[in-house]
Amino acid sequence: MKNQDWMNRDLEVLWHPCTQMKDHEQYPLIPIKRGKGIYLEDFEGNTYIDAISSWWVNAFGHANEKINKALKNQLDQIEHAIFAGFTHQPGIELAEKLVEITPKGLDKVFYADNGSSGIEVALKMSFHFWQNEGVKSKTKFVNLSNSYHGETLAALAVGDVALYKESYEPLLLKPITVPTPDCYLVEPENWKAHTEKMFEPMLQTLKDNHEEICAVILEPLVQCAGSMRMYHPVYLELLREACDKYNVHFIADEIAVGFGRTGTLFACEQASVTPDIMLLSKVLTGGYLPLCAVMTTEKMYNAFYDDYASLKGFLHSHSYTGNPLACVAALACIDIFQTENIIENNKATASYILQKAEALKQDSQIKGHIAEVRQMGMITAIELVKDNQTNEEYDWKERRGFAIYQYALKHGCLLRPLGNVIYLMPPYIITHGQIDHLFDVMTKAIKEIL
Ligand SMILES: *Cc1c(COP(=O)(O)O)cnc(C)c1O
Repeated sequence: MKNQDWMNRDLEVLWHPCTQMKDHEQYPLIPIKRGKGIYLEDFEGNTYIDAISSWWVNAFGHANEKINKALKNQLDQIEHAIFAGFTHQPGIELAEKLVEITPKGLDKVFYADNGSSGIEVALKMSFHFWQNEGVKSKTKFVNLSNSYHGETLAALAVGDVALYKESYEPLLLKPITVPTPDCYLVEPENWKAHTEKMFEPMLQTLKDNHEEICAVILEPLVQCAGSMRMYHPVYLELLREACDKYNVHFIADEIAVGFGRTGTLFACEQASVTPDIMLLSKVLTGGYLPLCAVMTTEKMYNAFYDDYASLKGFLHSHSYTGNPLACVAALACIDIFQTENIIENNKATASYILQKAEALKQDSQIKGHIAEVRQMGMITAIELVKDNQTNEEYDWKERRGFAIYQYALKHGCLLRPLGNVIYLMPPYIITHGQIDHLFDVMTKAIKEIL
């Protein structure tokens, strides 16, 4: 069967995520037959460089030999078992490993089976902690503008991307939203000062409202779904200090930025802070299976530890909690990090990507349309505007990013701009040759479409 046949069958029965399905009257849906390394391949033999790691999850390529082998072995042992009253080797070993490699003090792991569910766990856990401690007034959460924490109702509520949230507003709990410290159009040497200044409203909010606040939730260093906006690590240091002072939890959503995306294994490392709760998902399993690890402290854990009848227990569950296959994929993925010098090698890859992005910014035909090139580790973003003298933005309804996506598909690349921001968030195995190809296609796409 060809691409078109699969597409027709698909559209008869399927409804895809984050998609206006009517688009597929006009634009193809790409059926994937297989993947190898950085490439996805369709049913007609066309290949696509997966420059966005299949929605930011893949780290070491598709059909990775080491992860495949670990999964095949595990399949013959136990595919899944209830995780209440029962446990298993992959679940235990992964938790031990996570405690070892995450910031000091995160000593307990609660598994959820995807990022959004993990966010629900974190919010419930924080609120319930204060209840258990007898602090009944704490019922609110603080978030940053332009943040994203997933799509289930509470996760959506503590996010701030209008496109995803607006339609559901009447259903959502109301966070206290503080302006993001993002450093868009701030010179790199001024990022620190800008970020420090942007901490003032956060500090004021905590000072004025701490008696009502359970936790502050944020994405450390990069607001990924919020157009890959970035800020300086000093914000995390200041937040740790303020949360300690005002008795508020610090929830670090490292679902997207964890496992090397920002240049360090975890983003919080760049500020040497330990949050009260840290969430890991996406790259956690190397892009193989859904899993989320909600990491927390002994102090949090102990607040729930009591006789059953106290009702202090955390009675949250998901059917697939701690799935052994997902845990084994995660263990294999962490093993690759630890044995193949990934973080160090990524530095050279990131600097090559930045060099290409800076060159693209200088291209005489397009430089007037580039407002900013920014990078944090293995995340590189190019923000397009109508005119970079005035920074007038393109109307989002013109869907220029979407046109770039379509152009890139025809030229063997999977890019998926966020509005008018083109970004690269590739698997860590990307080669210079593949980066060159991506930039050729991006440059032509921008020239063609803007
Ligand atoms: C993707 C993402 C989530 C949600 O994870 P899902 O597994 O898609 O539910 C939450 N927070 C951040 C920062 C994310 O990027």
